Amino acid sequence: VIVIGAGVIGLSVAWRAARHGLRVLVLERERPGGGTSHVAAGMIAPVSEAVASERTLLALALASARRYPGWIAELQADAGCETGWLPCGTLMVARDGDEAAALERERAIREELGLEVRRLLPSRARELEPALAPGLRLAVEAPQDHAVDPRALCQALLGAVRARGGELRRASVAGVAVEGGNVAGVRLDDGRLLPAAAVVAAAGVWTAALDGLPPGVAAALRPVKGQLLVLRDAAGPGLLTRVLRGERCYVVPRGDGRYVLGGTVEERGFDRSVTAGALHELLESAVGLLPGVSELVVEETLAGLRPGTVDNAPLLGPAGVEGLHLACGHYRHGVLLAPISGELLGDALAGVGEVPGEFSPQRFQVALR
Ligand SMILES: Cc1cc2nc3c(=O)[nH]c(=O)nc-3n(C[C@H](O)[C@H](O)[C@H](O)COP(=O)(O)OP(=O)(O)OC[C@H]3O[C@@H](n4cnc5c(N)ncnc54)[C@H](O)[C@@H]3O)c2cc1C
Repeated sequence: VIVIGAGVIGLSVAWRAARHGLRVLVLERERPGGGTSHVAAGMIAPVSEAVASERTLLALALASARRYPGWIAELQADAGCETGWLPCGTLMVARDGDEAAALERERAIREELGLEVRRLLPSRARELEPALAPGLRLAVEAPQDHAVDPRALCQALLGAVRARGGELRRASVAGVAVEGGNVAGVRLDDGRLLPAAAVVAAAGVWTAALDGLPPGVAAALRPVKGQLLVLRDAAGPGLLTRVLRGERCYVVPRGDGRYVLGGTVEERGFDRSVTAGALHELLESAVGLLPGVSELVVEETLAGLRPGTVDNAPLLGPAGVEGLHLACGHYRHGVLLAPISGELLGDALAGVGEVPGEFSPQRFQVALR
């Protein structure tokens, strides 16, 4: 099996396939884990990010979140290193009457969906998180929404792939080679053909640029820019212990004194510049929720490209050419969806399972007659 792309998704698929005893080669043109996965905040947040009209995606997200603790334990055992897993829960907060009304609607929607959320008095929220700004109007707790460090996670996944006999090679892939309706392998930028019985295209938002994919795939994928900051508390951890979400920003603790403050959602093509306006807005919103943010040291400013799709759900499974599979388009949820994506595709590659049709990469192909 050749997996194109060593992001959180490609590595999760590779690890599962290698655990089934398949021979796995991961091809990555840059640093493993250095694509969008390097920028991700790492929220495992099916409840706080639930959208009522996206029930199928919600079911997939909840299934993946349920797997997380066991998946992390197995991963750490295989890799022999940590992942920054932080089972911390999430607080959603509102600063004024309008935000409180909107948050209350969001809470009611989640309750109707059967998701675990609790309304908290602001005083109770400040007992839980004493650094919260005074004067908050409402808080809602999502106790099952947690966080992980996506950079540590990718390193652990790479270690686990190798521990199971998989290989990583630095190579830039031009496209998928197809012969007689079957996958023959991948064609590298330098023209070489690497043969394989199965190919998994997991190149994130750049999957669209690969040659040889069925029509419809490229049109279904688009980059959605997100900017964020990595902040550090010189005094160590403790300012905030849960993920904090306001209407216009989130703050994710890493558990070691670092905090990720994000994230904008912008349609700007492949532009990855960091802008003063975005940083200003994020910092202003975060200081309003958690005044102590203004004392933190700015360690990094970053922009990444979420692999967005037409319906916000990933492209997972067989791509219409024998032996070709897609695992891309995870938009805002690639880290959350890594366990289930790896499991579904890894099992399908080993012939012991099938990916549900709802996520078929072929769902966007229109018949051109
Ligand atoms: C600001 C921001 C915040 C986010 N926060 C969260 C969050 O809190 N929770 C969450 O679940 N998700 C979050 N996401 C989304 C998440 O980051 C993505 O869904 C996820 O990283 C996608 O992983 P991937 O493996 O598909 O892609 P990538 O991580 O981009 O990996 C693809 C890899 O393929 C390689 N590649 C590309 N083309 C080629 C080629 N031709 N040949 C060889 N290699 C190639 C790239 O170099 C890259 O390493 C966030 C995203 C952003 C931008």
